[in-house]
Amino acid sequence: MGYLFVGQIVHSKSFDELEVIDNGFLAVENGKIIAIGDATQLPNWRKDTSKYEVIRMTKNQFILPGFIDCHIHAPQMPNIGLGLNMELLDWLKTYTFPMESQYKDSQFAAYVYAKVVAFIEGIKALNSDLISVTITPRFALSCDEYLMNELGKLAKEHNLNIQTHISENLGEIAAVKEVFRAPNYASVYDSANLLTPKCILAHGVHLEDEEIDLLKARGTSVAHCPSSNTNLQSGLCDVLRLRKAGVAVGLGTDISGGSNVSILTTIRDALGVSHHLNFVKKQNIKGTGSVTPQNELQKKVNEEYVPMNYKQALYLATLGGAEALNLSQKIGNFEVGKEFDALLIDIDVDPIDVYTPNVEGIKDKPENLEERIQKFIYTGDDRNISRVFVKGKPVK
Ligand SMILES: [Zn+2]
Repeated sequence: MGYLFVGQIVHSKSFDELEVIDNGFLAVENGKIIAIGDATQLPNWRKDTSKYEVIRMTKNQFILPGFIDCHIHAPQMPNIGLGLNMELLDWLKTYTFPMESQYKDSQFAAYVYAKVVAFIEGIKALNSDLISVTITPRFALSCDEYLMNELGKLAKEHNLNIQTHISENLGEIAAVKEVFRAPNYASVYDSANLLTPKCILAHGVHLEDEEIDLLKARGTSVAHCPSSNTNLQSGLCDVLRLRKAGVAVGLGTDISGGSNVSILTTIRDALGVSHHLNFVKKQNIKGTGSVTPQNELQKKVNEEYVPMNYKQALYLATLGGAEALNLSQKIGNFEVGKEFDALLIDIDVDPIDVYTPNVEGIKDKPENLEERIQKFIYTGDDRNISRVFVKGKPVK
């Protein structure tokens, strides 16, 4: 039995192209997308659709690709919301390292993991191949060169994914340069062969130009963690700068530096950070003035800076995340042949209001699909995610 969705379909084709199909159809068989198109073409595709469960969406419903969280710390879950008046290194010492050290008690570990990662068991039961082993040096300061070299070898030997942190906080960067006597942070990982096309680095707020070039050359991507970067006062990560240099970027909640488990909230945080960055570049703040550009070129670059829009942020949460995790051959959008990971969004339930005044001359709000997407992105929450599909199987 497969699924046949009929109605509004939304997915990213690229960073700048969001495809919105007002009256579409999408067919799923054996967990994979086998057809997508305009509903008027449906009779040409299959005369007999009786072997599919047909899901007809209302005008206030649409399907989106599943959201992808590129960076989260399950063991930090009990600390969510705590210590966010501190910067990174103090927060690590006061909250995170003490919490993580409690996992040496296996009873405590079993208690928290049962709560936090019970979903992994659920996903395993789905018989998904989307779970893979990932080498995780915590960050350079908690490793020595020997450990990182060995991890680099292990990753190479077994062709494993790698994840770690980079250039999150200025104090951290200064400490890394001093401890490893390195010209910059990225070179520390690179000399241990940890920067690979299967490596994703969280944060990258303060990466220097040559480090970004190195990431591009190695095919290494970045997980943008806007909530955490704001909470721990790490800085404003310029996602557009990374993307312009050819580095793939996805979104991360970074629990518990980040304070919300939702990627939808993270989309909004990413948009906020991008707008704030734009203000810093341009706004003449009364009483304090604007940030003075270093030279004419910088002045021009600042003036021409355009912050991210909601379509681009939605891309980061879906196809961008898939690219950053090397999964875009399988997931990230609704291309035929990909696995069907999807959310069925309904904006006609709390907390989004739909305005249908039914008064002559006054139009309904929202009027069209693009407006419905905006309503969801800016005001929705999990109540508006009425169904969730992973590899074609309903999990909500
Ligand atoms: Zn992290």
